[in-house]
Amino acid sequence: MIADLAKTWTDKQRFNISIINYEGQDKQFIRGCFDFIEKLFNDYFVFRFVAEGEIRVGEGDRSASYIGTDCLNSHLHEGRGPAIILKRSHINRRLWYVVAHEIIHFLGFKHPHEYEQLKEISESRYIETSGTPRQSILAYKSYAGQRNINLSLDDIKSGRLYPEIVELSKRYKEKDRARCECVFVED
Ligand SMILES: [Zn+2]
Repeated sequence: MIADLAKTWTDKQRFNISIINYEGQDKQFIRGCFDFIEKLFNDYFVFRFVAEGEIRVGEGDRSASYIGTDCLNSHLHEGRGPAIILKRSHINRRLWYVVAHEIIHFLGFKHPHEYEQLKEISESRYIETSGTPRQSILAYKSYAGQRNINLSLDDIKSGRLYPEIVELSKRYKEKDRARCECVFVED
């Protein structure tokens, strides 16, 4: 995975999340995916589900998320929808990895296959946390050309590394505030 140091959460480890559009079992399913990611990051993040949270999850015609801190209060900004959108057909046990993928974007990570391109933009802003990037749940395709449907061992290590990533992010943000202001959205 690629940590985006400009978008990493540095002082907000508890999130109030509102799941809009989805109800009943679908809502439970989404909550279950959040709980799973909470464990992956060793409870560094705590997710609470409320009606009016600062992180909004809604329905979309595809599944996508803003990166890290861009997710905060995204519904308050003109022209911006929920922080995380989930396609209805992805709310499915067999496709849990799509939902997990989007939640990991929300925590501040970008696709490993973009690393070369991102490094050209900034060597200091993006750091590679994964030793086998193509096996990451954030990669679209593995070496075998299939979508990765499981976390890689390096994804699990990346979760454990989060406190170190936070320290790097704090240093990055102190040095380069201007770069932290632009917005990205992606699948
Ligand atoms: Zn993605």
